[in-house]
Amino acid sequence: MTTTDPRRWRPRTRQVRAGLNRSDFCETSEALFLTSGYVYDSALEAEQSFDGTRDRMVYSRFKNPTVLTFEERLAAIEGAEACRATASGMAAVHAALLCQVKAGDRVVAARALFGSCHWIIHDLLPRFGIEVEFVDGPDLDAWERALSRPTRAVFVETPANPTLELVDLAAVADLAHRAGARLVVDNVFATPVFQSPLALGADVVVYSATKHIDGQGRCLGGAVLGSAEFCTDVLGPYLRHTGPCLSPFNAWVLLKGLETLDLRVERAAANALAVARFLEGRPEVARARHPGLDSHPQRDLARRQMRGFGTMVAFDLAGGREAAYRLMDRLELVDISNNLGDAKSLVCHPWTTTHQRMAPEDKLAMGIGEGMLRLSVGLEDEADLIEDLANALGA
Ligand SMILES: *Cc1c(COP(=O)(O)O)cnc(C)c1O
Repeated sequence: MTTTDPRRWRPRTRQVRAGLNRSDFCETSEALFLTSGYVYDSALEAEQSFDGTRDRMVYSRFKNPTVLTFEERLAAIEGAEACRATASGMAAVHAALLCQVKAGDRVVAARALFGSCHWIIHDLLPRFGIEVEFVDGPDLDAWERALSRPTRAVFVETPANPTLELVDLAAVADLAHRAGARLVVDNVFATPVFQSPLALGADVVVYSATKHIDGQGRCLGGAVLGSAEFCTDVLGPYLRHTGPCLSPFNAWVLLKGLETLDLRVERAAANALAVARFLEGRPEVARARHPGLDSHPQRDLARRQMRGFGTMVAFDLAGGREAAYRLMDRLELVDISNNLGDAKSLVCHPWTTTHQRMAPEDKLAMGIGEGMLRLSVGLEDEADLIEDLANALGA
């Protein structure tokens, strides 16, 4: 165990050192413990490891040293009491919600969601007798109405994928708590670098570590962060017995990603703002969306609750789907991919990919049109990105 309390360090130091737990070999870099099981000196030690009188590694579905280092480091970065890693971002969203609800409960969510998050709430939860209600994320009156009845959990993405719509976390946390609910925030688009939902009153934060935490397109992973009580007593048994655990190898890759998280995210965010400003000035673009643009309808909220505006840009082509496809096919540098948060800039057409399975009226209601593109801005030179977009937009 580390002897220094990582919370004493400033965020940049935590990214590099929190959770480090060197083995007897005194390695510099974090060790990769590729082991599924652990051995005991005696039958009694095995018994005590299972009845809880001994705290040690038992099985990598429950705990693994490399995964634990990742969990402790991310918890320190987020300022959370505890963190549990998962195999993917969707495993994190799924476990964070399912571990706390039962038949007869009520869940309220913002309408603008990533396709699979929408599926869990819209399609999966009702199968188990859970009542769900969607509200327009920016509309505080709608939140107040929806949360005037007892509710178990509230789920939001802010900024939302792909509409970049925001939810006022402090206000919704307050309303959620009055309704008896925990507020669960998917913080993927903001990253821990730019937004701290727990400090604004949220109870649980979830990440797809596949995105900016890896940041180099190599592996999937996820995480759920919150109080020690939530992670141990509510989420812990759910994860232990259902098994969506993070592989130690992926945990090791993600740890290396955490070391450079702020450097990469700050740089990509600077590129994103430049690209968003460029797109906004083009006649082919009906609307550019990015929380850092003065034209963003929730610009003041963005400044209040975020320290930076993220690496994602969305924009609507005046020429609709045909113009969007033409632009994608003409891009030479930016790749067409539905992943995001990568070092390489990636573009996708949400209507036909990440949100393909949703009903057209649901897509339109959450602000996704057929001419909308989502651009995950990477680490290339900003001038090359703008040149590529200008060439693709040009006649
Ligand atoms: C990608 C994403 C997820 C899902 O993460 P995976 O690692 O792909 O399972 C969840 N929420 C948001 C906002 C995402 O962008």
